[in-house]
Amino acid sequence: MRILVVEDEPGIARFIRQGLSEAGYAVDVASDGEEGLDYALAAPYDLLVLDILLPKMDGLRLLRELRERGVRTPVLLLTALDTVEDRVKGLDSGADDYLVKPFAFPELLARVRALLRRPPLQSNPVLRVGDLELDTVRREVRRAGRRIDLSPREFSLLEYLMRHPNQVLTRTQIAEHIWNFDFYAESNVVDVYIGYLRRKIDRGFDRPLIHTVRGVGYRLSAEEEDA
Ligand code: CA
Repeated sequence: MRILVVEDEPGIARFIRQGLSEAGYAVDVASDGEEGLDYALAAPYDLLVLDILLPKMDGLRLLRELRERGVRTPVLLLTALDTVEDRVKGLDSGADDYLVKPFAFPELLARVRALLRRPPLQSNPVLRVGDLELDTVRREVRRAGRRIDLSPREFSLLEYLMRHPNQVLTRTQIAEHIWNFDFYAESNVVDVYIGYLRRKIDRGFDRPLIHTVRGVGYRLSAEEEDA
């Protein structure tokens, strides 16, 4: 899952980026409202974390611009403002949730997970494809009941595949959701990580779940190959 953080205070931006990256999310950071808008329109983010008081364009205007352009990405507002009026204004501008600074990182992380579980994504915290299970809250993966340890990035990749079962996902689609601008231009990183996942998810099982669609990308499915 790929997250855009728009935050002008370098210390806070660094803290959020590091924490979300360690949790396996791909993170881009924009440091003012105009840059944030450019980023948000340029890549298919799964979630935006928006500060309200920002240089050039404040977070509420940025949010309204995005909603007016039809961008429905979930938005978590992050702000030092804490009056009822500010919270109401934020939610009325199209935000999905609201967190007041200073905040504890585990709470930010819990809200991020909750927003990513909402429709149109999926409201059940446990994703299932065949005998493969991924618990988005406990961060656990099991196949046929057996626990499988994944790195945060592998987990993020598998979560993305499991949210789109039986669909062919191109390498570009996968890369844009799992890696940030720093990495996704790099050549074969998707293939490399699919290789890691295959070794952990499919090795030792009769029926592979990760299928290569030649010349296009990958498909996660418990169904037999078409041909
Ligand atoms: Ca600020």
